Amino acid sequence: MHILVTNDDGVTAPGLLALAQALRPLGEVTVLAPDRNWSASGHVKTLDRPLRVRPTTLADGSPALTTDGAPSDCVALPLLGLLDKKVDLVVSGINPWANLGHDVTYSGTVTAAMEAAIGGLPGIAVSLNTPPQHQGERDYEPAAEVGRRVAEQVIANGLPPNTLLSVNVPYFPLAEIKGFHITRQGLRVYRDELVRRTDPHGRPYYWIGGEFPDGVPDDGTDFGALAQGFVSITPLHLDLTAYAAMDGLKGWAW
Ligand code: MN
Repeated sequence: MHILVTNDDGVTAPGLLALAQALRPLGEVTVLAPDRNWSASGHVKTLDRPLRVRPTTLADGSPALTTDGAPSDCVALPLLGLLDKKVDLVVSGINPWANLGHDVTYSGTVTAAMEAAIGGLPGIAVSLNTPPQHQGERDYEPAAEVGRRVAEQVIANGLPPNTLLSVNVPYFPLAEIKGFHITRQGLRVYRDELVRRTDPHGRPYYWIGGEFPDGVPDDGTDFGALAQGFVSITPLHLDLTAYAAMDGLKGWAW
């Protein structure tokens, strides 16, 4: 079992190290992660410039690879033959914030797992639901243990084709996590605000600011599971077709 571990927060992120360490008992782990933070960069395929890959070491002294490419490039490169050995499973994370509802389209953590699905490999994205008011270092150990258990299940059972798992873990000690819920995507409520300022040259600039996003904790959704203290496991696929809209559209005057 050869497991590729990546993330969107960069190769030095503590969540990446915790995940790599948790997965080592399951097989050979190769870490290939971006050399900078790509959070909220969406699904990327770098085609307009060369990609560099260089060896580095994680904080525990273990070897890793890093690249100036995006998280999804970190999956595409091995799928295209970068490594000597074929990859069997891709696990991405641990992202320091949850990836819920519509977040999955922005998330580099999740889109790295999407790239695995496109390449015919099982992909798992692991995100931690840190409370917005949290300060200081995070404890990634419970989420790393959850990631290992999910990986064990995927290795034992396989995933359907073109399917990835988005895993979101409550920010609780392991003993206080109530279990696992298989969920659907819930509804994210973004509270973005446009901040307009003026630069020292008198020119306007804009930032997307606002409050930390919220969500609707309906039963059966990712938000609902976290609100009830469960790990949320959402199977995702890349077929974004709105099937319910198709019949209505067929009736338009084409
Ligand atoms: Mn991130």
